[in-house]
Amino acid sequence: MEFRDLKKQYAVLKNKIDKSVLDVMASGGYIMGKPVTELEISLAEYVGSKHCVSCANGTDALSLALMAMGIGSGDCVFVPDFTFFATAEVVSFAGAYPVFVDVDRDTFNIDSAKLDEAVRRVKSEGKYIPKAVIAVDLFGLPANYQEIRKVADKYGLYVIEDAAQGFGGSINGKKACSFGDISTTSFFPAKPLGCYGDGGAVFTDNDEWASIMTSLKYHGKGSYKYDNVRIGMNSRLDTIQAAILKPKFDAFKEYELDSVNEFARTYSSMLAGYVKIPQIPEGFYSSWAQYTITLENQEQRDSLQMYLKERGIPSTVYYPRAMHEQTAFSDVASDVSSLQISKILSETVLSLPMHPYMEQEDIEYICNSIQEFIRSR
Ligand SMILES: *Cc1c(COP(=O)(O)O)cnc(C)c1O
Repeated sequence: MEFRDLKKQYAVLKNKIDKSVLDVMASGGYIMGKPVTELEISLAEYVGSKHCVSCANGTDALSLALMAMGIGSGDCVFVPDFTFFATAEVVSFAGAYPVFVDVDRDTFNIDSAKLDEAVRRVKSEGKYIPKAVIAVDLFGLPANYQEIRKVADKYGLYVIEDAAQGFGGSINGKKACSFGDISTTSFFPAKPLGCYGDGGAVFTDNDEWASIMTSLKYHGKGSYKYDNVRIGMNSRLDTIQAAILKPKFDAFKEYELDSVNEFARTYSSMLAGYVKIPQIPEGFYSSWAQYTITLENQEQRDSLQMYLKERGIPSTVYYPRAMHEQTAFSDVASDVSSLQISKILSETVLSLPMHPYMEQEDIEYICNSIQEFIRSR
């Protein structure tokens, strides 16, 4: 059993993907070829955003957003304490200061009441200028943008949506990647919509930012290739990766998203009452980048992981360390007492195998194993 079976997905889509890649080889358009533009158009249409600018990976996508917004030295950006490192890394990389905010115990996403507290604290200290919040759609579930937007508007902050794991999710029918002033995603292979290498994209309705980010990802390009009007980076999506994404995006829309939601329902119905199952608020829809259960304590979590491993079931801890505990952020002063939930989650979460090509009997085997483990204790 695989944690995320990408080889099986390839076996199903092989003919289309192979043809798509071979067409690029024959076309000679290896950099910014036609599939890149075609993909950008269909992605923007799907999420309901005016512009999609593809780039090299989800981390660059976040950096492009911060650069377009002019965020840097002296500014601070609020990020969830419980996320993948890149969300916070890009803030420091831009020369700004990351402020870690605790998350909600049930949704794993940023807690807007604690965001409000954190902004007030930073303002009263007067050392950094609050500029933006990067909300993360962790494990596929969109963050609570209605509440986040209220806080952001109150203090004049930009909202950046890090939907690296959230592509395909929605709130009352409105799609992930459309909630931020700029939203970002990643096409890393294991994300909900992944390619066969690195890839990413930014989404925005803002014409000026879209044109700045298009320039930034191409060495600050002006009117033509050797007219460089700003300091940028080299962050293009490879044409081959765009060609791989096109048939994968069709499968994603046609059935993959439905499949993972069906598997999540099976998991939840079999695991409810045994462990804490992921909570999806009313009106929210997840793309299930991960199916993550919460155990009572670290000892129980670690024993369960061992127990599953002995039975051939892979599982992963996303994430074993909160941001405020990362060595790279040891110089960021955090109010640890306000970050308790992130700390507890890092000790008690466990992600189970989840992908669109799972076998129903595998899910039953996993759930029966978890039930037996809980009963035996
Ligand atoms: C994967 C991920 C990123 C970074 O994406 P890459 O394409 O790997 O650079 C950023 N934020 C979150 C929440 C992620 O899960």
